[in-house]
Amino acid sequence: MSSYTVINPATEEAVTDVELFDVEGTDDAIARASDAQRAWARRAPAERAQTLRDFAAAVDADVEALAQLETLNSGHPIGQARWEAGHVRDVLTYYSAAPERLFGKQIPVAGGLDVTFHEPLGVVGVITPWNFPMTIAAWGFAPALAAGNAVVLKPAEWTPLTSMRLAEIGLEAGLPDGLFQVLPGHGSVVGDRFVTNQTVRKVVFTGSTAVGKKIMAKSADQVKRVTLELGGKSANIVFADSDLEKAAASAPAGVFDNAGQDCCARSRILVERSVYDRFMELLEPAVAKVAVGDPRDEATEMGPLVSAKHHAQVSSYVPDESQVAFRGSAPTGAGYWFAPTVLTPGRDDRTATEEIFGPVVTVLPFDGEADAVSLANATEYGLSGSIWTRDVGRALRVSRAVEAGNLSVNSHSSVRYTTPFGGFKQSGLGRELGPDAPLSFTDTKNVFIAVEELS
Ligand code: NAP
Ligand code: MG
Repeated sequence: MSSYTVINPATEEAVTDVELFDVEGTDDAIARASDAQRAWARRAPAERAQTLRDFAAAVDADVEALAQLETLNSGHPIGQARWEAGHVRDVLTYYSAAPERLFGKQIPVAGGLDVTFHEPLGVVGVITPWNFPMTIAAWGFAPALAAGNAVVLKPAEWTPLTSMRLAEIGLEAGLPDGLFQVLPGHGSVVGDRFVTNQTVRKVVFTGSTAVGKKIMAKSADQVKRVTLELGGKSANIVFADSDLEKAAASAPAGVFDNAGQDCCARSRILVERSVYDRFMELLEPAVAKVAVGDPRDEATEMGPLVSAKHHAQVSSYVPDESQVAFRGSAPTGAGYWFAPTVLTPGRDDRTATEEIFGPVVTVLPFDGEADAVSLANATEYGLSGSIWTRDVGRALRVSRAVEAGNLSVNSHSSVRYTTPFGGFKQSGLGRELGPDAPLSFTDTKNVFIAVEELS
């Protein structure tokens, strides 16, 4: 086994070494998961529900420690990290109801009784990115376990620590041994093995569109089920009739939260031309106000980027000052700091079309509703977006016309665990969260029982 040194992105100091799984270790873990799954699926629904509630209670008791660990590993501001750990608890609590509510149907037919069952798939492989390690893990493992599956999870190499801790918490809370395992390792080794090992029946992948496409192509070989949550370049559309002060004041949080390393980041602000200058005047002080700094500080709103490599990648999008309208502040010295940056490129410039995944936002003017919609849709991505207007009819028209899975009007909220989440076009395939997520970890079986007529 090789190992990997986890780095604190706020200090560039080594945190710990993590042992990496190889192909053989991955296969062993998958075999153990398969054994555990058969026993788990046979347990009474009420017992599975109680075990998941116990898991949620154990996460609740550990929220502060999980948050501190995420801050250390990923550089997330501590307040945000606490929210993330609490979200894991809430997702587990929500799906703990599912074992007792996975209803099939009884369908009227002639000659007998027809019923459907939602059968667990078996072992599910979850592959997570580094931007929201805990929450995205929970979106996969909680509904999958609730539907009677086992889960093997590969965290992103840079950010494995909170996922590893969640697996320990699950075991301590009474999850059967082997049912939920976290396997740190390279994507091309452990992640790829989830795709090629026949015992894994479904892969849930969150990450880049490029890797997602490879996983989808490879999964075809075994007709393996996939859910893909991929990239985004979401639009924040500001109409002249909106509450412009509110739209400008909230725009920085809509894109710079988590240092812009958010698949739902509203990284293209589109502003109706008649209010463009006024909007920029309001945006500049709002960007200057973003508190960038030590993620352990309660007042910090934005921490560092996740790694030196990612810092170099984000920096490559701003090679010179020609597109820069203005910037916020950032610390200097050790740490992968990047100041919130506002660009005013042309419509076809790379900064206006590619996902940067850092604290960089582009602002473009538009002329009227049709132009706003066509500009918003001029991308192969379609994950989220916001629409700012006081006109209800326009809010509905534009919401229906924008090709994206998660839109908000006069708000930047994207994620509630009670509502479905996922992308249009090349932003993904399938949906996570919401009441139907457990069903996506099952196959529907139809059983017909012949019954003789009353004689
Ligand atoms: P990534 O490079 O695609 O990696 C994601 C995960 O896949 C990591 O665990 C990675 O392992 C693994 N991986 C890499 N190559 C693989 C392969 N050949 N087979 C199987 N697994 C493989 O993405 P990222 O840079 O971590 O994350 C950023 C991207 O994720 C952005 O595009 C963002 O928009 C997207 N994202 C989407 C959502 C959503 O819900 N739609 C949410 C968050 C992020 P390693 O760590 O070893 O590379
Ligand atoms: Mg990557």
